[in-house]
Order: sequence, then C-alpha cells, then structure tokens
Amino acid sequence: MDIIYDLHSHSTASDGTLTPTQLVQRAHEAGVSVLALTDHDSTEGITEAQQAASMCDLQLVPGAEISVTWTGRTIHIVALGINPHSPSLQQGLKKLVEFRHWRAEEIGRKLELKGIGGAYEAARTLSNGTLISRTHFARFLVEQGRAKDMRAVFRHYLVKGKPGHVHGEWASLDEAVGWIREAGGQAVIAHPARYRLTRTKLRKLIRDFRDAGGAALEVVSGSHSVDEAFTMAAHAKDYELLSSAGSDFHSPEQSWTELGRLPPLPHGCVPVWRDWGFC
Ligand code: AMP
Ligand code: MN
Ligand code: MN
Ligand code: MN
Repeated sequence: MDIIYDLHSHSTASDGTLTPTQLVQRAHEAGVSVLALTDHDSTEGITEAQQAASMCDLQLVPGAEISVTWTGRTIHIVALGINPHSPSLQQGLKKLVEFRHWRAEEIGRKLELKGIGGAYEAARTLSNGTLISRTHFARFLVEQGRAKDMRAVFRHYLVKGKPGHVHGEWASLDEAVGWIREAGGQAVIAHPARYRLTRTKLRKLIRDFRDAGGAALEVVSGSHSVDEAFTMAAHAKDYELLSSAGSDFHSPEQSWTELGRLPPLPHGCVPVWRDWGFC
C-alpha cells in the first residue's frame, strides 16, 4: 500500500479546532502515515502530537507555518522536520507571537469603533489564550451573525481596506528560511497559487526563496486546483526545487479538504520526503 503523506495541518496550538491528539487520531483514521503539524508561528502542539503519534502507527513530522512579509505581501513558509528546541527558531517565533498579541488588540479596537464590542476577548477565549489568529476573530464574527460564513467574514471585515484589518510586518523571507535551516528543517513555500501573484512575481518569489536556501514548493495543496498543481510542478522543476503535499486542514467543519485526501504529486516531481527514509 502507498504511504499517504499530509505535510500541512493545524491544531488548537494555532487556528485549528482539534487538539494535537485529536488531529493525529483523525489523520490516522483517514489512513495518513506521515503527518506534519504546521501550526502558524508556533511549535507548542508538537510534544502532544508526538505523544499521540507514538500510540498509533503514524510518523509525526515536527513543523510550523511561518508568516513572512515579502515585497509588502504576506507569504507563508512551511517548515518541515525542524528541531522545535532550536534557539534561533524559538526567538524568531516569539517575536511573531508577540506581534500577534498586539495586532489582536488593535483588531479588537478597530472593530469596537465600528460598533462590534468584545471581539478581542472573544478571540482570546476561542484561541485558549495561546496564539491569536484572524481566524479566531472570524469565528466570533460568524457566531455573531455578522456574515454567513468564514469566507464572507474575511472579505467584509478582515482583509485590507476593511474595518478589522491591521497591517502586519512579519519575518523576512531570509529570516524565516534561516531559522528553519538552523533548526535542521526544510523550508517550503506554502500554497504558492493562493497569493494571486503574476507569473513574473511568483517566479521572483521562488528565486528569492531558493537563493535564501529554500527546499520545496507545496505543489499539491488542499487549496490548489488540479491545474494549479500542474503549474506549480512546472515551476518546481524549472528551479530544481523539491515538491510537497499538504491538506492545510484546520477543522472538520471549516476545511476545504479532509486530512490525507490529496491527489498524487504530478509526474516528474521530486518529493520533499525523498530522503526521509519512510518508504
Ligand atoms: P492570520 O495569520 O492570523 O493573519 O490569519 C490567516 C489565516 O486565516 C489563514 O491561515 C487561514 O486559516 C485563514 N483565512 C485567511 N483567509 C481566509 C478566507 N478567505 N476564508 C477562511 N479562512 C481564511
Ligand atoms: Mn490558518
Ligand atoms: Mn497558509
Ligand atoms: Mn496553513
């Protein structure tokens, strides 16, 4: 039987709704053999996930999804196979989490000015007080009936130009890739088709990423169409980068893709897991 890899997922340590233990159990039930836990800007869930993975026949890859600002845009860089105790990685993530707390207070203030009270407190409660994401605000706003679903709530409240938007300056691309490499991991551009970059800009991003020491593109993603996966496979080949695959699972209710339910990497891709020794 083929090994099923899912190298992008979230738990309650960031904006997922399952605890690391529940996430690992669900992945195992879905037939996933190798799961990466890649919480936004945090490695807090990894110890628990590793414990849960050791109870079933699942390999847990320690990871993270690091928020980066590149030419004024937010880009996500997935880290795979990191040592979560790496000091430079932890120092870097600490700054991002602190920024998230400040941003959350700002978002709360801005929504308050628009007559929406209690958003900061609600988002904090929904996040268990660990790491606050726009997703937590979005869940509160949907509960309040401000919009019909998550997609609509982002569009009306939380993106640039909308009442609850706060500009973020995250890590630089070089910093993020540097922390990942120092932690012994591989850096991957998450869901590259989601940034709505022109072909020229996307290729500039891939070049900058490769020059910084990046390893792979997330060719297959829960948020990519089949066509987008083929386009990204061609870019990976052009730049001699490896290819990754991940669902970007957040929650049983709010995910476009179930854990492990991914098409195979297009023909000719070199998998990011080639040298991991699981096959
Ligand atoms: P943050 O990193 O706190 O700015 O939040 C970004 C997160 O919000 C992403 O990781 C997604 O999980 C979520 N997100 C962004 N845009 C949307 C959308 N249109 N619909 C649903 N979730 C979204
Ligand atoms: Mn997310
Ligand atoms: Mn992402
Ligand atoms: Mn993600």
